[in-house]
Parts: sequence; C-alpha cells; structure tokens
Amino acid sequence: MKDTTKHPCFNKETAGSCGRVHLPVAPKCNIQCNYCNRKYDCVNESRPGVTSGVLKPFQAAEYMDQVLTKEPRITVAGIAGPGDPFANPAETLETMRLLNKKHPHLLFCLSSNGMGILPYLDDIKELGVSHVTITISAVDPKIGAKLYAWVKDGNVVYRGEQGAEVLLERQLAAIKGLKERGIIVKINSIVVPGINEDHLVEVAKVVSELGADIQNMIPLKPTADTLFADVKEPGHEIIGPLRKEAGKVIDQMTHCKRCRADAVGLLGDDQSASLCGTLQACSK
Ligand code: SF4
Ligand code: SF4
Repeated sequence: MKDTTKHPCFNKETAGSCGRVHLPVAPKCNIQCNYCNRKYDCVNESRPGVTSGVLKPFQAAEYMDQVLTKEPRITVAGIAGPGDPFANPAETLETMRLLNKKHPHLLFCLSSNGMGILPYLDDIKELGVSHVTITISAVDPKIGAKLYAWVKDGNVVYRGEQGAEVLLERQLAAIKGLKERGIIVKINSIVVPGINEDHLVEVAKVVSELGADIQNMIPLKPTADTLFADVKEPGHEIIGPLRKEAGKVIDQMTHCKRCRADAVGLLGDDQSASLCGTLQACSK
C-alpha cells in the first residue's frame, strides 16, 4: 500500500523531504488558455509549459531511472505537459504503464485541464494514479470565455462562451468521476486580475461540493506574446484574502512554486537546470 501523504504539493509537511519529477511526454494541448505560451527552453525559466525537451514514454522511463539514482528523495512521478496529458493520451498512459512496472513504489500524479480526461478515468485508476490536478479558473462560461481562446473536441473547435461551457462540463464531470474512483483531486485556479479574482470563491464552492480535496490559487505569471502579457502579477494583497475566503469551503495549497513541465527535485530546490543534460540525452 502506497503512502499517499508523501506528495509534496498536496501535503506541505512533506515538501522538505519528498520530491517530484515532471515527465514532459505530453507536447500537444486541446485548449488554448489566453495566458499560456509554451516554448521549449533550457534556460533557467521557471513556469508551467516550459521544458528543455520532450520525451517519448520509453525515454521517460529511462530518464526516471537516472533521476532516481541522483535524487532518491523523489516520491512522485507526474505528467504536467508541456501541453496536456489527455491531448496525448497514448503517451501519457504508456508512460504510466512503464513506471508502474519499473517503479511501483512511486506515487503517480497527472495535471490536466480536464477537457480530454473522461474516457480514461478507469485507466487512471487501474494504473495506480493516486493524485490528479484539474485546472479550473472559472465556473461561469462568460468568465471562462475571457480565459480561453478555443477548446478542441476531436476535430471540432469551439470558441467564446460555447467553448468555455464545453470545457466546464468536462471539468466538473472529471472531478465527480475521479472522486468516485477514490482519487485525490486538487484544483488549480489561475488568478487573473480584472478577469476572475472576484469569481474564484465561487469556483471553490462548486469544486468543493463535487468532492475536490484541495485548491491551489496560482497567481498569473504574465508571459510575453499572450493576451495577458501586460496584466500586473497579483500579489499577496489579492491572493491572501482569496485563499482565506475560499479556505472556508476547501483546503488551500499555499506553497506552489509554479513549476516547469520538466521540474525535478524538492519543491524549493528545483534541479531541472542541473538535470537538463540528462533529460536532453534521454530525448535523443
Ligand atoms: Fe497551456 Fe495548459 Fe492551458 Fe494547454 S491547458 S493552453 S498547456 S496552460
Ligand atoms: Fe506542485 Fe505547484 Fe509545482 Fe505543480 S506547479 S508540482 S502544484 S508546486
């Protein structure tokens, strides 16, 4: 039986002794968030969507072997992009399968926008994934329409409120389905000033009613060449009261480091830059 408390993002007390690795096996995305600009990069840039390379599942398994010899404190193997795990379901599931065989003692974690996850809920459970994060930053399609440029369902692309509505439906069903399967669910909510900061307590209430375990309010990191490039990053004066209010209905994560898609190590001591060469060697 795995000790599911040993996930440094879901349990702050373990953040000093348990580390995580993000395996960048999922390059494509099935939605476009207006704050996201993914690029592959080996410089010291730390934000979601950035990675120094993309791995195939077998390469990710080899990379994992090497990472574990260099950093034995790793307790969690996760997939968080650089796109979305379920816009790349074959790669995601194959990676989890290989890890389950080679390193069954690890906790497995997936971070998704929720759009494509529903057909794979049983696989997720069977493969021993214990923690899933769904990013939900709006539960009102009018607000969602300002956050997402488009949402893709198979070959159909939805825009505006229609796109936000399709996405929301999937996200809420995902929380319900994951909880029915006993999986621990975190909700990431990106705080975008002027767009959704007055709406996020409502998000907290809705996801909490569906059984989500914890919410992570992540301040927007304004990124070049995005719609929100000139928005000021929200500080503690916005995030603090939001967490306090939302914390009345759902536990709040307060130690998120807004990690890269190839982050590795303890949360406060990321080694992705020093292991960049290992990752690049495995990706060849
Ligand atoms: Fe970028 Fe993630 Fe949004 Fe996809 S879901 S556009 S990878 S932030
Ligand atoms: Fe954990 Fe936040 Fe990093 Fe995700 S981005 S691995 S929740 S610290």
